[in-house]
Amino acid sequence: MPELPEVETVRRGLAPVMEGARFVEVVAHRGDLRWPLPKDFAKRLEGQTVTGLGRRAKYLLADLSSGDVLLMHLGMSGSFRIALPHGEQKPGAYYHERAKDLAHDHVVFGMSSGATIRFNDPRRFGCMKLIPRAALDREPLLRALGPEPLGNEFDATMLAKACNGKNTSLKAALLDQKVVAGLGNIYVCEALNRALLSPKRKASTIASRSGEPNERAERLTDAIKAVLKDAIQAGGSSLRDHRQTDGSLGMFQHNFRVYDREGEKCPTSGCKGAIKRIAQNGRSTFHCPVCQK
Ligand SMILES: [Zn+2]
Repeated sequence: MPELPEVETVRRGLAPVMEGARFVEVVAHRGDLRWPLPKDFAKRLEGQTVTGLGRRAKYLLADLSSGDVLLMHLGMSGSFRIALPHGEQKPGAYYHERAKDLAHDHVVFGMSSGATIRFNDPRRFGCMKLIPRAALDREPLLRALGPEPLGNEFDATMLAKACNGKNTSLKAALLDQKVVAGLGNIYVCEALNRALLSPKRKASTIASRSGEPNERAERLTDAIKAVLKDAIQAGGSSLRDHRQTDGSLGMFQHNFRVYDREGEKCPTSGCKGAIKRIAQNGRSTFHCPVCQK
């Protein structure tokens, strides 16, 4: 499933061909993705200019001149291809296998920038919605989301407060979108390794009884921000290198410290441990039991 850095990379890939451009032609090859598309989907988009392309957690939000916001989510398997007069770009393809079957091109945007943007989604867990800007605060998909991890407001105090009194594991807490928005399995494993914290540790142990952050909360907050920034930077570099955006596994996976590296040596300097895989809440956790405490 695409995670926050990949969605941000997609946003950065789409922004130059969407921002300031008008939807000239919109074709939906089917009436539904995860949910039905709005009945007047093409009509509400055609003729409108994208005034800005933003992101909230893993949602892309295109502000339109009409006052609507086009919300887009990649789901499990969604991806965009951008066809330009001088070639094709595939933003965000640095870790996940990309579908090559054109039969899964469900939505096509013809933009006044000259770009044709195709949304491909074999498993159709992705979604597109049109929401009036004024109603965005009440949008159920966005309303329950916790703080944006790369936002200035997200700090150790906020994370400690959200974890205070939580009986769940630290891993489970970080996957909870109300605690922090947009983190998935990969970057939670990576951040916990960087912070030298066990995924099995109780979430409440990063806060004092009164909910104040301790040194673990500081370390974890720094690790979350750093791992996401590094991943976005790696995505950006693969995006510029058009020769290898062929949809196969890309560059950033080589930078993973623990994810999918069972049995390999722990990358923490001076640590002699090996990466172990355990199951938590039905999902794989990769960690080093020696230095992550
Ligand atoms: Zn280690």
